[in-house]
Amino acid sequence: MDLLKTLVDKGLRRELPTRDEALAVLATSDDELLDVVAAAGRVRRQWFGRRVKLNYLVNLKSGLCPEDCSYCSQRLGSKADILKYTWLKPQEAAAAAGAGVAGGAKRVCLVASGRGPTDRDVDRVSKTIAAIKEQNEGVEVCACLGLLSGGQAERLREAGADAYNHNLNTSEATYGEITTTHTYADRVETVHQAQAAGLSACSGLIAGMGESDADLVDVVFSLRELDPDSVPVNFLIPFEGTPLAKEWNLTPQRCLRILAMVRFVCPDVEVRLAGGREVHLRSMQPLALHLANSIFLGDYLTSEGQAGKADLEMIADAGFEVEGAGERTLPEHRADALAASGGGCGGHDGAGAGGGCGPCGGGAADGADTAVTAGADVTAGEPAPDAAGETEVFGGAGAAAASGRARADLVAVRRRGAGTELPPNA
Ligand code: SF4
Repeated sequence: MDLLKTLVDKGLRRELPTRDEALAVLATSDDELLDVVAAAGRVRRQWFGRRVKLNYLVNLKSGLCPEDCSYCSQRLGSKADILKYTWLKPQEAAAAAGAGVAGGAKRVCLVASGRGPTDRDVDRVSKTIAAIKEQNEGVEVCACLGLLSGGQAERLREAGADAYNHNLNTSEATYGEITTTHTYADRVETVHQAQAAGLSACSGLIAGMGESDADLVDVVFSLRELDPDSVPVNFLIPFEGTPLAKEWNLTPQRCLRILAMVRFVCPDVEVRLAGGREVHLRSMQPLALHLANSIFLGDYLTSEGQAGKADLEMIADAGFEVEGAGERTLPEHRADALAASGGGCGGHDGAGAGGGCGPCGGGAADGADTAVTAGADVTAGEPAPDAAGETEVFGGAGAAAASGRARADLVAVRRRGAGTELPPNA
């Protein structure tokens, strides 16, 4: 296909495809799918070889959020039967993080539900970062705490955070249809604050919320412009008890096309396969490793992933290798640019204070509860959002036809690890 040859050439040169080319990737047929994966795989290998970076999520504070993100099992009014708990103590979080690092994770992503941190929360997270770094030499830490206010990004950086996650999630034009309690512009602003503080920015999307192909291309082009180091790609986990519980729109083939499109548009960026991997890709997960160069090990924020051991076996069986703690994640040009901005990511070769990371997927992970926290503190008494399962999202012109099979049987609410007495999955 001329399209794929063009996209590979552009990806190897870090040149932006046109919107039509990105749309054409999403429109390819199942007969063309392996060619699409092979083409995007060439771009992936150019910038990241056959390495797979492992990231580990620690949900510091679960549920009880005042925001109304429709996809999220932790939202205000969520009827999802998830674990709910307040802030983990620094040593509790460090113990969970240690399990992930022992399992092979290079980065720990500290996530808290809520609109955004108070200054006291930043103090709390700073102590947690210190405990984790003290016990796990060289580990990268990403924070995902929601919308940041003035000076908080700098304080997190000083505390040793390497990265900050805040996802755009969907296109600007449709953002108001999934969340009303904060805006797309709020999210962009927080990513800018993280970058200005020298933190490696991680910002991504959630697919499967009923969006059109054009919406997907819009958000990925916006991400390219925002220029994070890491782009987590979540596939919506339609949690029972949330407004999007019936949105089973994804097939394994569509997930692969979406990942390929993201790789072509963001060729040299850490593309992180995040929440919904097991639920939507199912037995096609290994093919996705040809597109993404980073995944989460073990469980997500409020849902369980496949066993950490199965993740490692999948990587080895597919002919990839887990990225080692001493290996650089980002291509040299990106790592150098980040170091010049004061960040420490991209390698462990002395970039900035606190040591290096690649980008972060932070909060993310569950398509349904991606740690995309938003901005201020929890406020009691806000009106309850729409009732579970009733909201039609992106119902207007251009909405993608639902084509996925409902697989609620594959969605397991997390009952182990942080916030429980049971050991974590790592
Ligand atoms: S995504 Fe974050 S801000 Fe939105 S409801 Fe969930 S926890 Fe709250």
